[in-house]
Amino acid sequence: MQFDRERKASDLEILIDYLEVVAVAAGEKPAHLQGQGMRSKSFNHALRKVAEAHGLLVMQTGPLLPRLLRAPEYDPRFFEWERQRDREARAREGQVLWVYRDRDLEPAIRSSTEGSTDVSEVLGYPACCVREYFEAGVRMSEAIVRCYQTRYDAKNADDFIRLAKENAPVTIPPADRPQIRYVYSYVQFSACRECAESPTSPAAEINWAMKRLASRLSPAFQRAIEKAAKAEVAARREGRQRNSPPQPT
Ligand SMILES: [Zn+2]
Repeated sequence: MQFDRERKASDLEILIDYLEVVAVAAGEKPAHLQGQGMRSKSFNHALRKVAEAHGLLVMQTGPLLPRLLRAPEYDPRFFEWERQRDREARAREGQVLWVYRDRDLEPAIRSSTEGSTDVSEVLGYPACCVREYFEAGVRMSEAIVRCYQTRYDAKNADDFIRLAKENAPVTIPPADRPQIRYVYSYVQFSACRECAESPTSPAAEINWAMKRLASRLSPAFQRAIEKAAKAEVAARREGRQRNSPPQPT
């Protein structure tokens, strides 16, 4: 597969993208989402060819909007402003590519793209992990607003908007930072706390199934994933030491 590397996709992500497409073809996963926020056009094009070669269906839609389960606990006017900013940013990102096997899945893909239904079902990801991922985003926004209030003495939505536009530096306490748990190498979602701690959790089960699929496909392919996962863990450890604590952007 030919693709360029001008965007920040890691070797592991590329291998797992491919594994996910194979899982869709094998009927082990309803759909694969490609291109959300971080893949180059040429990579999407290459993956589309792989999908079509597997006899799969593809559909382009606008980028996925986050499905928030609750509004953050601050001025709704600032929340509305943030949502609008996110919508505009996503519109600039361009299209994402869905790969799926069953045409009946199309309405569910469309509604999850618009944020009106949970994306976990179409992607075959555990609902608990997807829920925790979006909740972490809300908590992060709340922590940013708390920092605006304490460090910059911000009082209302106008102050929050001004600080957000200025990109005012914020410090997020470790407890409020989203926890990405890299315990499962064969999946593309971040495991929730409970799933990360249990070898029989829904996330662990999916990881095992994907690992089995990778080794069925080819032992060399599975070894490549293991190697890329190890490299990623090492790179992440190094990155953390170099620029800790991470700053949100
Ligand atoms: Zn979970």
